[in-house]
Amino acid sequence: MSAPSTNPAQHGIGSPLVTAQAQLSEAIEILGYDEGLHQMLATPRREMHVAVPLRRDDGRVVLHSGFRVQHNISRGPGKGGLRYAPTVDIEEVRALAMWMTWKCAVVDVPYGGAKGGVTIDPRGHSAAELERLTRRYTSEISPIIGPERDIMAPDIGTDERTMAWVMDTFSVNRGYTIPAVTTGKPLTIGGSLGRTTATSRGVVHTARAALADAGTDLREVSTAVQGFGKVGSHAARFLHETGARVNAVSDQYGGVHAPDGLDVPALLEHVAATGSVVDFADADPIDNADLLALDVDVLVPAAVEGVIDAETARTVKARWVVEGANGPTTAEGDRLLAERGVQVVPDILANAGGVVVSYFEWVQANQAYWWTEHEIEERLEHRMLSSYRSVAALARAEGISLRDAALVIGVRRVAEAHLVRGLYP
Ligand code: NAD
Repeated sequence: MSAPSTNPAQHGIGSPLVTAQAQLSEAIEILGYDEGLHQMLATPRREMHVAVPLRRDDGRVVLHSGFRVQHNISRGPGKGGLRYAPTVDIEEVRALAMWMTWKCAVVDVPYGGAKGGVTIDPRGHSAAELERLTRRYTSEISPIIGPERDIMAPDIGTDERTMAWVMDTFSVNRGYTIPAVTTGKPLTIGGSLGRTTATSRGVVHTARAALADAGTDLREVSTAVQGFGKVGSHAARFLHETGARVNAVSDQYGGVHAPDGLDVPALLEHVAATGSVVDFADADPIDNADLLALDVDVLVPAAVEGVIDAETARTVKARWVVEGANGPTTAEGDRLLAERGVQVVPDILANAGGVVVSYFEWVQANQAYWWTEHEIEERLEHRMLSSYRSVAALARAEGISLRDAALVIGVRRVAEAHLVRGLYP
């Protein structure tokens, strides 16, 4: 099976950083902030670029590029995922770190925004190679991470095993166990119940609330989900369990479509056995562009940035786009969707369930006291719905989109932290 590039719109007009900066400019204009504050909010506080040499299993040494960007740490430690992908570069990591800043502020967790990345395709590497790479990367960036400085989590191409290696490397070098340096860890070393599904649950909570505001019941709609990884697969499962029809899903290899709805539990088994949704029985093949244009009620992009752009936005037929991925819609794509009356539940709100339960995991690790799954699920739902309600209320009051309202709330909270702390010296 050949794998196309994971990120078709890395640079230029639709690049993640251009999108993130355009969104910030729009929020600044609504808020009426001056150029100095705009510049502070637009610029990463701290960046680390590291060379990550990896000894391959065959003895060769290959050098990879690694990054950690702390976009803002005014409201608390940096927080953000670690991405392994061949297309990762500093600009993408800067954009992802900025989105983390606004996201943490929108759901009011006491963090700033950060993100990490290593330019590597994890699929072409053994577990032993990925472990060596992760440990070297962690060691290189260890001066700037830690429970009070910057806390890592999984993202594209990394998982709870990666977080265990990060936590172990950081702890061994300090001489004692420090679980709160990462979230999304395995349960046995201080991970939280409910973390693996938290992002997807949040997507479904906010989708349900947005549809209810329009008098529509999530149980009665058709959906399509792009991306079938940690976020997309659970989102499809929860949508199916809710009673919604999941008409199509895709991954980087292709997609599958069934007009009457996919048998999602059987599809999950197929993916566990084959590694892809492709060739699932009782479904027709569909490519990623056609999936975005499918005639469904709700579209959930849960893969990579920039997929709904000036071209594809014109083809979207869904009434709602609920952004499981970070930055799936470019600024021009967003404008076109709005023009066509498509309601977008923005990434910094819709996919914030992951960082909410990451926060719960960090709190539990700091207290060394573990909550029940019921407590976590209840608190997650409460935090997601109250955040959604604040965003929706502002959008209604000001006559702006949910994206602008979420950005205004997030950017304002960060700006207030700057202003109240004052400028040193
Ligand atoms: P993942 O690596 O587990 O899954 C990514 C999925 O997207 C895979 O199914 C992959 O095949 C697919 N994909 C990759 N390139 C594609 C392409 N060009 N077209 C279609 N599908 C493609 O990653 P994940 O953790 O599920 O993250 C997905 C998105 O959600 C990312 O934007 C990530 O930043 C965002 N996100 C993740 C979390 C989390 O908790 N994991 C939280 C918030 C946001």
